[in-house]
Amino acid sequence: MLAPMKPSDLHFGPRDFEVPTGREPVRVTWLGTAGFAIEHAGTVVLIDPYLTRASIPRLLASPLRSDAAAVARHAPRAHAIVAGHTHFDHALDVPTIARRTGARVFGSRSCATLCRAEGVPEAQVTDVESSMRGEPARASVGPFELRFVPSVHSAFMLGRVPFPGDISDCEQVPLRAEKYRCGAVFGVELRVAGRCIYHLGSADLVDARAPGDVDLLLMCVAGWTTTARFTDRVMGAFRPRAILLSHWDDFFSPMGDGAKILPAMRLPRLVEGLTRVDPSVRLGALPLLGAVEL
Ligand SMILES: [Zn+2]
Repeated sequence: MLAPMKPSDLHFGPRDFEVPTGREPVRVTWLGTAGFAIEHAGTVVLIDPYLTRASIPRLLASPLRSDAAAVARHAPRAHAIVAGHTHFDHALDVPTIARRTGARVFGSRSCATLCRAEGVPEAQVTDVESSMRGEPARASVGPFELRFVPSVHSAFMLGRVPFPGDISDCEQVPLRAEKYRCGAVFGVELRVAGRCIYHLGSADLVDARAPGDVDLLLMCVAGWTTTARFTDRVMGAFRPRAILLSHWDDFFSPMGDGAKILPAMRLPRLVEGLTRVDPSVRLGALPLLGAVEL
């Protein structure tokens, strides 16, 4: 029986990563769920930013509207926004942030459909699914080199991916939660300032597509227990030096409430599984809006 564990038991400290002297840090801020802001030398890339955090009654009662105030407050700047897939807890706020900041958007065909319906100018939107020709799509954003790596969503709902299929019809926006179909799923590789950061936005992967020797793996926890051999495969595929756990928090409660753990995350088992493969891997979590610099 493993001892109980809270994400706060695992918080990264300020000295967990080193920033080489003489260069600006790469700052990684956790926005809750699978959302991150990654900043270097004045350029900000957002991945799966979800600041609205609608309550369950609101999800059930009406179509979902992005919370403009929460977005403006917690994601004030962006040069690029990436949606790894288009479930609402990854994609709802993407069009609002794109319109507000003028940031470029990278995502699946579903993401592009959603953005167009929500009035994001066409020139800002890149459909990385359609632009792939057998190889992962690539893009440069300021000092960042991005690669969009085909991935899969964990099948955690009785062996199924929740809300499968594409968003193909946005005639009536805003959409209800269940209309945010998953769409194609991507992992995001970011190379910047000599670092390799990889965002795994759902707890499954295409092993052969993963880049090895990742400096920091931004790893989704939700659904990991239903993915076969998840811990062994993640460690084998990414060979990460450090792992930042995400998407373990209750995203039905507002930003102001802080991050509370969702039930059934099985953190002790997860940590044990990851460190059994490589005891030297640094493993941690962050408070909501907490950051590490590397
Ligand atoms: Zn999802």
